[in-house]
Amino acid sequence: QDVLTVLKLLMIGESNVGKSSILLRFTEDEFHENMQSTVGMDYRTKQVTIDGNTVKLAIWVSHFNDTAGQERFRTLTPSYYRDGQGAILVYDVTDRVTFMKLETWLNELNTYCNKTDIIKMVVGNKIDLPNREVSTEEGLQFARRHQTLYIESSAKTADGIKCCFEELVQKIIQT
Ligand code: GDP
Ligand code: MG
Repeated sequence: QDVLTVLKLLMIGESNVGKSSILLRFTEDEFHENMQSTVGMDYRTKQVTIDGNTVKLAIWVSHFNDTAGQERFRTLTPSYYRDGQGAILVYDVTDRVTFMKLETWLNELNTYCNKTDIIKMVVGNKIDLPNREVSTEEGLQFARRHQTLYIESSAKTADGIKCCFEELVQKIIQT
């Protein structure tokens, strides 16, 4: 029996943008309105078959920057990023600050990830909400400028969630 290829994916972005919710929707097809905020790490795996390739995704969500007083976790940052093959950078389309912080997250990723060819996907989440602050065009522009993939999603309705992971994995496999 063949041993499955494991791809390490990282999810980063400001607190409350929906990282854990996206992961839960993708792996369990569930959504919780009152998601418990995570301390430290979330980790889930999922086996997927894309273009005839079956791979195991090992998906890590960092919450190290979520709350003050978690400076002690900073020392873990390099090991979190090590050998990441794909990165999902999430912001909330109804919260412009989380979009503006993407640049910082990208810098952190570029600083700590040893793999220079890591594939990046920017995700504008919570598109089900009516109070949008960041347009699709702005999201696309950011992605173009930083040579990342781009998708908009809702963990609540499941819009774009499967697509996000599929497109990212497709690109990793092709590279
Ligand atoms: P994280 O801190 O980035 O992991 O964010 P969470 O996954 O914990 O989500 C933060 C809050 O936003 C929770 O109350 C979720 O229920 C809510 N949430 C997450 N994704 C969506 C979404 O796509 N639409 C809506 N309406 N709410 C969402
Ligand atoms: Mg979380």
